Amino acid sequence: MPTPTESHSPAPAEAGTPVIEFTDVEKRFGDNVVLKDLNFSVARGERVTLIGPSGSGKTTILRLVMTLEELTGGYIHIDGEPLTHEQRGGKRVPVSKKQQKKLRTRIGMVFQQFNLFPNMTVLENIIEAPVHVLGQSKQEAVQKAKSLLEQVGLPDKADAHPTSLSGGQQQRVAIARALAMDPEILLLDEVTSALDPEVVGDVLNILREVADTTNVTMLIVTHEMGFARDVSHKVMMFDGGRVVEEGHPETIFTAPEHERTQKFLGAVL
Ligand code: ADP
Repeated sequence: MPTPTESHSPAPAEAGTPVIEFTDVEKRFGDNVVLKDLNFSVARGERVTLIGPSGSGKTTILRLVMTLEELTGGYIHIDGEPLTHEQRGGKRVPVSKKQQKKLRTRIGMVFQQFNLFPNMTVLENIIEAPVHVLGQSKQEAVQKAKSLLEQVGLPDKADAHPTSLSGGQQQRVAIARALAMDPEILLLDEVTSALDPEVVGDVLNILREVADTTNVTMLIVTHEMGFARDVSHKVMMFDGGRVVEEGHPETIFTAPEHERTQKFLGAVL
């Protein structure tokens, strides 16, 4: 039987334009500088997991990519296009709302707390953005939504309301909703942290399948180190808003070099 690392595709080559590129990124909340001089890039189809202690800035990175937080310094590029600001005439100027909206349609995010629209059915949650943002016909969006509900194991829940579902079921709907947009980039923010332990495995298996069967680029924040090890091409260890170490999951999890990584993994593994 192949080991997990042998069973999935190798890391994509680092050639070509990165799908996500952070350049000198700074994020501050008031006087609190959470990220400083952060530079990294993610290649097409690459799956990168961010690990590190609570408060080290991991979720903020995902929220910046989703434009849910305002970038206070530096640049983020998606497929080579500026997401929030660009350099023009030696100055850092904001990009248009239209440009930002266009790029954001290529990005899907699944949250710790599901964030489904409570006043809509499961089906309505899934077709909302394909119809209203991508301009798909309702018929096309419904057809795709139904096949995604099959994929996440909830074919009979299309007309249910989120509040009638368990946490694990709500998270599966949230995954279907993100996939309905055919995102190039999928951001996973501690998607199993709010779930009962017995359903965590089901949700992770759905995401493993997405990783195995699509070329979607993933940026993952998780405390599930087994999952991180199985699906990631690269793991980045954060502390205090900086990358202290990065590398192949096998190396990071079995022979971390940095003392901070050793301590962190010693505490969580
Ligand atoms: P992690 O995901 O690694 O636990 P976060 O990105 O959630 O870390 O948080 C990093 C830091 O940013 C923390 O100090 C946190 O208090 C701060 N922070 C995050 N979001 C906000 C916010 N909306 N307002 C003020 N501070 C915030």
